[in-house]
Amino acid sequence: MTSRVTRTQVVIVGAGPAGLLLGQLLQRASIDAIVLERRSAGYVLGRIRAGVLEQGTVQVLEHAGVAERLHAEGIRHDGVEIGFRGRRHRIALHALAGRSVTVYGQTEITRDLMEARAASGAPSVYEAEDVALHDITSGAPRVTYVHEGELHEISCDFVAGCDGYHGVCRSSIPADKLATYERVYPFGWLGVLADVPPPWNELIYANSERGFALASLRSATRVRCYVQCPLEDRVEQWSDARFWDEFRRRMGEGIADAVVNAPSIEKSIAPLRSFVVEPLRYGPLFLAGDAAHIVPPTGAKGLNLAVSDVFYLHEALRDYYRGRSERALDDYSVRCLRRIWRAERFSWWMTRQLHQFPGDAFARKMQETELEYLFESEAAQKSMAENYVGLPLERAT
Ligand SMILES: Cc1cc2nc3c(=O)[nH]c(=O)nc-3n(C[C@H](O)[C@H](O)[C@H](O)COP(=O)(O)OP(=O)(O)OC[C@H]3O[C@@H](n4cnc5c(N)ncnc54)[C@H](O)[C@@H]3O)c2cc1C
Repeated sequence: MTSRVTRTQVVIVGAGPAGLLLGQLLQRASIDAIVLERRSAGYVLGRIRAGVLEQGTVQVLEHAGVAERLHAEGIRHDGVEIGFRGRRHRIALHALAGRSVTVYGQTEITRDLMEARAASGAPSVYEAEDVALHDITSGAPRVTYVHEGELHEISCDFVAGCDGYHGVCRSSIPADKLATYERVYPFGWLGVLADVPPPWNELIYANSERGFALASLRSATRVRCYVQCPLEDRVEQWSDARFWDEFRRRMGEGIADAVVNAPSIEKSIAPLRSFVVEPLRYGPLFLAGDAAHIVPPTGAKGLNLAVSDVFYLHEALRDYYRGRSERALDDYSVRCLRRIWRAERFSWWMTRQLHQFPGDAFARKMQETELEYLFESEAAQKSMAENYVGLPLERAT
Protein backbone atom coordinates (compact mmCIF):
# COMPACT_ATOMS: atom_id res chain seq x y z
CA MET A 1 0.00 0.00 0.00
CA THR A 2 1.41 3.42 -0.95
CA SER A 3 1.20 6.26 1.54
CA ARG A 4 0.03 9.83 0.89
CA VAL A 5 1.11 12.44 3.40
CA THR A 6 -0.69 15.72 4.11
CA ARG A 7 -0.73 18.31 6.86
CA THR A 8 -3.50 20.21 8.62
CA GLN A 9 -3.98 22.07 11.88
CA VAL A 10 -6.71 19.86 13.40
CA VAL A 11 -7.76 16.31 12.52
CA ILE A 12 -11.37 15.69 13.55
CA VAL A 13 -12.21 12.01 13.95
CA GLY A 14 -15.95 11.36 13.49
CA ALA A 15 -18.63 13.12 11.42
CA GLY A 16 -21.46 12.94 13.94
CA PRO A 17 -22.91 16.21 15.20
CA ALA A 18 -19.83 16.90 17.40
CA GLY A 19 -17.28 16.44 14.59
CA LEU A 20 -19.25 18.25 11.90
CA LEU A 21 -20.11 21.18 14.16
CA LEU A 22 -16.50 21.53 15.30
CA GLY A 23 -15.45 21.49 11.64
CA GLN A 24 -17.93 24.26 10.85
CA LEU A 25 -16.91 26.43 13.82
CA LEU A 26 -13.20 26.02 13.01
CA GLN A 27 -13.78 26.74 9.34
CA ARG A 28 -15.46 30.04 10.27
CA ALA A 29 -12.48 30.84 12.51
CA SER A 30 -10.10 30.17 9.54
CA ILE A 31 -8.58 27.09 11.20
CA ASP A 32 -7.85 24.19 8.84
CA ALA A 33 -9.33 20.82 9.72
CA ILE A 34 -9.88 17.48 8.03
CA VAL A 35 -12.86 15.34 9.11
CA LEU A 36 -12.34 11.55 9.01
CA GLU A 37 -15.47 9.37 9.23
CA ARG A 38 -15.48 5.60 9.02
CA ARG A 39 -19.04 5.33 7.67
CA SER A 40 -20.58 6.69 4.45
CA ALA A 41 -22.38 10.05 4.56
CA GLY A 42 -25.65 8.22 3.76
CA TYR A 43 -25.20 5.88 6.71
CA VAL A 44 -24.51 8.78 9.10
CA LEU A 45 -27.65 10.55 7.84
CA GLY A 46 -29.74 7.41 8.31
CA ARG A 47 -29.14 7.19 12.08
CA ILE A 48 -32.21 8.31 14.03
CA ARG A 49 -31.29 9.77 17.40
CA ALA A 50 -31.89 12.93 19.40
CA GLY A 51 -34.38 15.70 18.74
CA VAL A 52 -34.71 18.11 21.67
CA LEU A 53 -32.44 21.16 21.51
CA GLU A 54 -31.67 23.50 24.38
CA GLN A 55 -31.72 27.22 23.65
CA GLY A 56 -27.92 27.33 24.10
CA THR A 57 -27.58 24.67 21.39
CA VAL A 58 -29.74 26.72 19.02
CA GLN A 59 -27.52 29.74 19.72
CA VAL A 60 -24.35 27.77 18.92
CA LEU A 61 -25.89 26.54 15.65
CA GLU A 62 -26.77 30.17 14.84
CA HIS A 63 -23.19 31.18 15.61
CA ALA A 64 -22.03 28.41 13.25
CA GLY A 65 -24.28 29.78 10.48
CA VAL A 66 -26.38 26.62 10.15
CA ALA A 67 -29.67 27.59 11.82
CA GLU A 68 -31.73 28.80 8.86
CA ARG A 69 -33.74 25.60 8.35
CA LEU A 70 -33.83 25.00 12.11
CA HIS A 71 -35.62 28.33 12.53
CA ALA A 72 -38.00 27.58 9.67
CA GLU A 73 -38.86 23.99 10.64
CA GLY A 74 -37.98 23.59 14.34
CA ILE A 75 -40.90 23.47 16.78
CA ARG A 76 -40.66 25.44 20.01
CA HIS A 77 -41.93 23.68 23.14
CA ASP A 78 -42.73 25.69 26.27
CA GLY A 79 -43.55 22.69 28.45
CA VAL A 80 -43.39 18.90 28.90
CA GLU A 81 -45.89 16.56 30.50
CA ILE A 82 -45.37 13.72 32.95
CA GLY A 83 -47.97 10.96 33.09
CA PHE A 84 -48.35 9.12 36.40
CA ARG A 85 -51.20 7.09 37.90
CA GLY A 86 -53.66 7.96 35.15
CA ARG A 87 -53.07 11.74 35.28
CA ARG A 88 -50.85 14.07 33.28
CA HIS A 89 -48.97 16.92 34.95
CA ARG A 90 -47.48 19.74 32.90
CA ILE A 91 -44.10 21.24 33.75
CA ALA A 92 -44.27 24.78 32.34
CA LEU A 93 -40.67 25.09 31.19
CA HIS A 94 -40.79 28.62 29.86
CA ALA A 95 -42.90 30.05 32.68
CA LEU A 96 -40.64 28.45 35.30
CA ALA A 97 -37.19 28.74 33.73
CA GLY A 98 -37.59 31.57 31.22
CA ARG A 99 -36.41 29.42 28.32
CA SER A 100 -37.89 26.83 25.94
CA VAL A 101 -36.60 23.86 23.97
CA THR A 102 -36.78 23.34 20.20
CA VAL A 103 -37.69 20.05 18.56
CA TYR A 104 -35.52 19.50 15.45
CA GLY A 105 -34.06 16.10 14.59
CA GLN A 106 -30.36 15.28 14.95
CA THR A 107 -30.52 13.94 11.39
CA GLU A 108 -31.58 17.38 10.16
CA ILE A 109 -28.74 19.10 12.05
CA THR A 110 -26.32 16.60 10.56
CA ARG A 111 -27.68 17.28 7.06
CA ASP A 112 -27.39 21.07 7.54
CA LEU A 113 -23.79 20.70 8.76
CA MET A 114 -22.81 18.33 5.94
CA GLU A 115 -24.22 20.74 3.36
CA ALA A 116 -22.44 23.72 4.93
CA ARG A 117 -19.15 21.81 4.94
CA ALA A 118 -19.54 20.71 1.33
CA ALA A 119 -20.39 24.31 0.30
CA SER A 120 -17.28 25.65 2.06
CA GLY A 121 -15.03 23.15 0.27
CA ALA A 122 -13.51 22.02 3.59
CA PRO A 123 -12.20 18.43 3.33
CA SER A 124 -14.07 15.42 4.74
CA VAL A 125 -13.20 11.80 4.12
CA TYR A 126 -16.07 9.34 4.48
CA GLU A 127 -15.45 5.59 4.60
CA ALA A 128 -12.02 6.23 6.15
CA GLU A 129 -10.99 2.79 7.46
CA ASP A 130 -8.52 1.86 10.18
CA VAL A 131 -8.13 5.38 11.57
CA ALA A 132 -5.15 5.29 13.97
CA LEU A 133 -3.42 7.91 16.12
CA HIS A 134 0.39 7.93 16.36
CA ASP A 135 3.04 9.76 18.41
CA ILE A 136 0.31 11.57 20.30
CA THR A 137 2.54 13.08 22.96
CA SER A 138 5.66 13.51 20.79
CA GLY A 139 4.90 17.08 19.78
CA ALA A 140 4.31 15.87 16.22
CA PRO A 141 1.09 13.83 16.24
CA ARG A 142 -0.01 11.91 13.15
CA VAL A 143 -3.22 10.23 12.08
CA THR A 144 -3.31 7.45 9.50
CA TYR A 145 -6.26 5.88 7.70
CA VAL A 146 -7.03 3.79 4.65
CA HIS A 147 -9.31 5.12 1.94
CA GLU A 148 -10.16 3.21 -1.25
CA GLY A 149 -7.29 0.82 -0.54
CA GLU A 150 -4.70 3.56 -0.14
CA LEU A 151 -2.88 4.43 3.10
CA HIS A 152 -3.00 8.13 4.06
CA GLU A 153 -1.11 10.00 6.75
CA ILE A 154 -1.94 13.44 8.18
CA SER A 155 0.43 15.36 10.40
CA CYS A 156 -1.32 17.90 12.59
CA ASP A 157 -1.18 20.09 15.69
CA PHE A 158 -4.27 18.68 17.40
CA VAL A 159 -6.67 15.74 17.18
CA ALA A 160 -10.35 16.16 18.13
CA GLY A 161 -11.81 12.82 19.20
CA CYS A 162 -15.46 13.23 18.14
CA ASP A 163 -15.86 9.56 17.28
CA GLY A 164 -18.55 8.52 19.72
CA TYR A 165 -18.64 5.89 22.43
CA HIS A 166 -17.12 3.11 20.28
CA GLY A 167 -14.48 5.29 18.62
CA VAL A 168 -10.72 4.93 18.43
CA CYS A 169 -9.63 8.17 20.14
CA ARG A 170 -10.55 7.44 23.74
CA SER A 171 -9.01 3.98 23.47
CA SER A 172 -5.77 5.57 22.20
CA ILE A 173 -5.26 7.12 25.64
CA PRO A 174 -3.42 4.88 28.15
CA ALA A 175 -6.00 3.47 30.58
CA ASP A 176 -4.06 4.74 33.61
CA LYS A 177 -4.44 8.33 32.35
CA LEU A 178 -8.25 8.25 32.47
CA ALA A 179 -10.72 7.87 35.32
CA THR A 180 -13.94 6.15 34.21
CA TYR A 181 -17.36 6.50 35.88
CA GLU A 182 -20.17 4.28 34.64
CA ARG A 183 -23.69 3.06 35.38
CA VAL A 184 -25.48 0.59 33.11
CA TYR A 185 -29.28 0.42 33.47
CA PRO A 186 -31.08 -2.95 33.39
CA PHE A 187 -33.35 -2.05 30.44
CA GLY A 188 -33.36 -0.37 27.04
CA TRP A 189 -35.57 1.91 24.96
CA LEU A 190 -37.41 0.53 21.96
CA GLY A 191 -37.96 3.47 19.60
CA VAL A 192 -40.28 3.79 16.62
CA LEU A 193 -40.30 6.56 14.01
CA ALA A 194 -43.53 6.93 12.02
CA ASP A 195 -44.96 9.40 9.52
CA VAL A 196 -48.17 10.43 11.22
CA PRO A 197 -49.20 13.82 12.68
CA PRO A 198 -48.50 13.75 16.44
CA PRO A 199 -51.69 13.75 18.54
CA TRP A 200 -49.74 15.56 21.31
CA ASN A 201 -48.37 19.12 21.32
CA GLU A 202 -45.56 18.60 23.83
CA LEU A 203 -43.45 15.61 24.88
CA ILE A 204 -45.16 13.22 27.31
CA TYR A 205 -43.00 11.15 29.67
CA ALA A 206 -45.16 8.36 31.13
CA ASN A 207 -44.28 6.45 34.29
CA SER A 208 -46.63 3.46 34.11
CA GLU A 209 -46.76 0.21 36.10
CA ARG A 210 -45.97 -1.51 32.76
CA GLY A 211 -42.79 0.55 32.28
CA PHE A 212 -41.76 3.91 30.91
CA ALA A 213 -43.00 5.37 27.60
CA LEU A 214 -42.22 8.61 25.80
CA ALA A 215 -44.42 10.36 23.24
CA SER A 216 -42.19 12.61 21.19
CA LEU A 217 -42.11 14.11 17.71
CA ARG A 218 -39.72 15.24 15.03
CA SER A 219 -42.03 17.46 12.95
CA ALA A 220 -45.70 18.30 12.39
CA THR A 221 -46.04 15.04 10.44
CA ARG A 222 -43.58 12.68 12.17
CA VAL A 223 -43.67 11.04 15.63
CA ARG A 224 -40.88 9.41 17.60
CA CYS A 225 -42.14 7.15 20.40
CA TYR A 226 -40.39 4.88 22.88
CA VAL A 227 -41.22 2.14 25.37
CA GLN A 228 -38.91 0.75 28.06
CA CYS A 229 -38.08 -2.88 27.21
CA PRO A 230 -35.91 -5.68 28.59
CA LEU A 231 -32.28 -5.48 27.42
CA GLU A 232 -32.52 -8.95 25.88
CA ASP A 233 -35.41 -8.00 23.58
CA ARG A 234 -34.83 -7.96 19.82
CA VAL A 235 -36.53 -5.58 17.38
CA GLU A 236 -37.96 -8.58 15.49
CA GLN A 237 -40.01 -9.48 18.59
CA TRP A 238 -41.84 -6.15 18.32
CA SER A 239 -44.28 -5.89 15.43
CA ASP A 240 -45.67 -2.40 14.86
CA ALA A 241 -49.03 -3.55 16.23
CA ARG A 242 -47.43 -4.87 19.43
CA PHE A 243 -45.46 -1.65 19.89
CA TRP A 244 -48.48 0.65 19.51
CA ASP A 245 -50.62 -1.55 21.73
CA GLU A 246 -48.02 -1.38 24.53
CA PHE A 247 -47.47 2.34 23.97
CA ARG A 248 -51.22 3.02 24.29
CA ARG A 249 -51.46 1.09 27.56
CA ARG A 250 -48.55 3.01 29.08
CA MET A 251 -49.79 6.41 27.90
CA GLY A 252 -53.29 5.85 29.29
CA GLU A 253 -56.55 7.57 28.57
CA GLY A 254 -56.62 10.78 26.60
CA ILE A 255 -53.68 9.80 24.42
CA ALA A 256 -54.39 6.10 23.82
CA ASP A 257 -57.55 6.83 21.82
CA ALA A 258 -55.70 9.15 19.47
CA VAL A 259 -52.79 6.79 18.68
CA VAL A 260 -53.04 4.95 15.36
CA ASN A 261 -51.06 1.88 14.29
CA ALA A 262 -48.83 3.84 11.92
CA PRO A 263 -46.23 1.77 10.04
CA SER A 264 -42.73 2.31 11.46
CA ILE A 265 -40.10 3.80 9.16
CA GLU A 266 -37.38 3.02 11.72
CA LYS A 267 -37.34 0.82 14.79
CA SER A 268 -34.39 0.21 17.10
CA ILE A 269 -33.43 -0.68 20.66
CA ALA A 270 -30.91 1.47 22.55
CA PRO A 271 -29.35 0.42 25.87
CA LEU A 272 -29.26 3.07 28.62
CA ARG A 273 -25.97 4.07 30.17
CA SER A 274 -24.37 6.84 32.22
CA PHE A 275 -20.64 7.16 31.44
CA VAL A 276 -17.94 9.80 31.89
CA VAL A 277 -14.16 9.78 31.48
CA GLU A 278 -11.89 12.37 33.03
CA PRO A 279 -9.97 14.31 31.86
CA LEU A 280 -11.07 15.10 28.29
CA ARG A 281 -7.52 15.89 27.20
CA TYR A 282 -4.38 13.84 26.61
CA GLY A 283 -1.65 16.10 25.21
CA PRO A 284 -2.89 17.38 21.83
CA LEU A 285 -5.86 14.97 21.81
CA PHE A 286 -9.20 16.39 22.98
CA LEU A 287 -12.31 14.25 23.47
CA ALA A 288 -15.76 15.73 22.78
CA GLY A 289 -19.33 14.43 22.74
CA ASP A 290 -20.15 10.74 23.14
CA ALA A 291 -16.44 9.86 22.93
CA ALA A 292 -16.14 11.28 26.45
CA HIS A 293 -19.55 10.79 28.01
CA ILE A 294 -22.91 9.10 27.59
CA VAL A 295 -26.18 10.03 29.25
CA PRO A 296 -29.36 7.96 29.24
CA PRO A 297 -31.67 9.74 26.77
CA THR A 298 -34.39 10.48 29.37
CA GLY A 299 -33.06 14.00 29.99
CA ALA A 300 -32.52 14.76 26.25
CA LYS A 301 -28.98 15.88 26.97
CA GLY A 302 -26.59 13.79 24.78
CA LEU A 303 -26.64 15.96 21.68
CA ASN A 304 -26.75 19.16 23.71
CA LEU A 305 -23.62 18.17 25.62
CA ALA A 306 -21.81 17.31 22.40
CA VAL A 307 -22.61 20.83 21.16
CA SER A 308 -21.37 22.56 24.32
CA ASP A 309 -18.12 20.52 24.30
CA VAL A 310 -17.26 21.51 20.75
CA PHE A 311 -18.26 25.11 21.39
CA TYR A 312 -15.69 25.26 24.20
CA LEU A 313 -13.12 23.37 22.13
CA HIS A 314 -13.44 25.72 19.15
CA GLU A 315 -13.02 28.73 21.46
CA ALA A 316 -9.89 27.18 22.96
CA LEU A 317 -8.37 26.38 19.54
CA ARG A 318 -9.29 29.83 18.22
CA ASP A 319 -7.52 31.49 21.17
CA TYR A 320 -4.49 29.30 20.62
CA TYR A 321 -4.17 30.09 16.91
CA ARG A 322 -4.79 33.78 17.45
CA GLY A 323 -1.70 33.62 19.60
CA ARG A 324 -3.48 34.71 22.67
CA SER A 325 -2.78 31.81 24.97
CA GLU A 326 -3.00 28.12 25.75
CA ARG A 327 -5.09 28.84 28.84
CA ALA A 328 -8.42 27.88 27.26
CA LEU A 329 -6.89 24.60 26.02
CA ASP A 330 -5.69 23.92 29.57
CA ASP A 331 -9.15 24.76 30.95
CA TYR A 332 -11.11 22.79 28.34
CA SER A 333 -11.60 19.61 30.33
CA VAL A 334 -12.58 21.28 33.59
CA ARG A 335 -14.94 23.68 31.81
CA CYS A 336 -16.72 20.83 29.98
CA LEU A 337 -16.87 18.53 32.98
CA ARG A 338 -18.76 21.07 35.10
CA ARG A 339 -21.59 20.99 32.56
CA ILE A 340 -21.27 17.27 31.83
CA TRP A 341 -21.71 16.21 35.47
CA ARG A 342 -24.77 18.42 35.91
CA ALA A 343 -26.34 16.88 32.80
CA GLU A 344 -25.34 13.41 34.04
CA ARG A 345 -27.06 14.12 37.35
CA PHE A 346 -30.25 15.34 35.69
CA SER A 347 -30.37 12.45 33.19
CA TRP A 348 -29.81 9.94 36.00
CA TRP A 349 -32.55 11.64 38.09
CA MET A 350 -35.06 11.58 35.21
CA THR A 351 -34.22 7.94 34.52
CA ARG A 352 -34.64 6.97 38.20
CA GLN A 353 -38.00 8.72 38.49
CA LEU A 354 -39.64 7.48 35.32
CA HIS A 355 -38.65 3.84 34.71
CA GLN A 356 -39.61 0.57 36.36
CA PHE A 357 -36.68 -1.03 38.19
CA PRO A 358 -37.85 -4.63 38.53
CA GLY A 359 -37.50 -6.14 42.00
CA ASP A 360 -36.70 -2.85 43.75
CA ALA A 361 -39.75 -2.02 45.89
CA PHE A 362 -37.88 0.66 47.86
CA ALA A 363 -36.93 2.44 44.62
CA ARG A 364 -40.60 2.41 43.58
CA LYS A 365 -41.65 4.05 46.86
CA MET A 366 -38.96 6.71 46.48
CA GLN A 367 -40.11 7.31 42.92
CA GLU A 368 -43.74 7.75 43.92
CA THR A 369 -42.77 10.15 46.71
CA GLU A 370 -40.46 12.13 44.45
CA LEU A 371 -43.09 12.49 41.70
CA GLU A 372 -45.82 13.52 44.14
CA TYR A 373 -43.47 16.15 45.53
CA LEU A 374 -42.65 17.34 42.01
CA PHE A 375 -46.33 17.75 41.09
CA GLU A 376 -47.07 19.70 44.31
CA SER A 377 -43.98 21.86 44.67
CA GLU A 378 -43.29 24.79 42.36
CA ALA A 379 -39.70 24.81 43.64
CA ALA A 380 -39.23 21.19 42.51
CA GLN A 381 -40.82 21.96 39.14
CA LYS A 382 -38.55 24.96 38.72
CA SER A 383 -35.51 22.80 39.38
CA MET A 384 -36.64 20.28 36.78
CA ALA A 385 -37.46 23.03 34.26
CA GLU A 386 -34.11 24.77 34.74
CA ASN A 387 -32.25 21.55 34.02
CA TYR A 388 -34.49 20.40 31.17
CA VAL A 389 -34.10 23.65 29.20
CA GLY A 390 -30.35 23.44 29.83
CA LEU A 391 -27.93 25.30 32.03
CA PRO A 392 -26.42 28.33 30.28
CA LEU A 393 -23.15 27.97 28.39
CA GLU A 394 -20.26 29.65 30.16
CA ARG A 395 -18.89 32.49 28.10
CA ALA A 396 -15.15 32.76 27.52
CA THR A 397 -13.36 34.89 30.09
C1 LIG B 1 -29.94 4.97 19.48
C2 LIG B 1 -29.64 6.32 20.11
C3 LIG B 1 -30.70 7.17 20.46
C4 LIG B 1 -30.43 8.42 21.03
N1 LIG B 1 -31.47 9.25 21.38
C5 LIG B 1 -31.20 10.45 21.95
C6 LIG B 1 -32.21 11.34 22.34
O1 LIG B 1 -33.40 11.06 22.17
N2 LIG B 1 -31.87 12.54 22.90
C7 LIG B 1 -30.54 12.91 23.09
O2 LIG B 1 -30.25 14.02 23.56
N3 LIG B 1 -29.57 12.09 22.73
C8 LIG B 1 -29.86 10.88 22.18
N4 LIG B 1 -28.86 10.07 21.81
C9 LIG B 1 -27.52 10.56 22.02
C10 LIG B 1 -27.08 11.50 20.91
O3 LIG B 1 -27.55 11.03 19.69
C11 LIG B 1 -25.57 11.57 20.98
O4 LIG B 1 -25.24 12.15 22.23
C12 LIG B 1 -24.94 12.33 19.85
O5 LIG B 1 -25.07 11.63 18.64
C13 LIG B 1 -23.46 12.56 20.14
O6 LIG B 1 -22.83 13.05 19.00
P1 LIG B 1 -21.31 12.70 18.70
O7 LIG B 1 -20.99 13.41 17.45
O8 LIG B 1 -20.51 12.94 19.92
O9 LIG B 1 -21.27 11.11 18.51
P2 LIG B 1 -21.89 10.23 17.34
O10 LIG B 1 -23.17 10.78 16.89
O11 LIG B 1 -21.86 8.83 17.84
O12 LIG B 1 -20.86 10.38 16.16
C14 LIG B 1 -19.58 9.76 16.18
C15 LIG B 1 -19.15 9.51 14.76
O13 LIG B 1 -17.84 8.97 14.77
C16 LIG B 1 -17.76 7.91 13.83
N5 LIG B 1 -16.69 6.99 14.21
C17 LIG B 1 -16.71 6.07 15.19
N6 LIG B 1 -15.54 5.41 15.24
C18 LIG B 1 -14.78 5.93 14.25
C19 LIG B 1 -13.46 5.63 13.79
N7 LIG B 1 -12.71 4.69 14.37
N8 LIG B 1 -12.98 6.35 12.76
C20 LIG B 1 -13.73 7.33 12.17
N9 LIG B 1 -14.99 7.63 12.56
C21 LIG B 1 -15.50 6.95 13.60
C22 LIG B 1 -19.15 7.28 13.89
O14 LIG B 1 -19.46 6.54 12.71
C23 LIG B 1 -20.03 8.52 14.03
O15 LIG B 1 -20.46 9.05 12.81
C24 LIG B 1 -29.10 8.81 21.25
C25 LIG B 1 -28.04 7.96 20.91
C26 LIG B 1 -28.30 6.72 20.35
C27 LIG B 1 -27.15 5.80 20.00
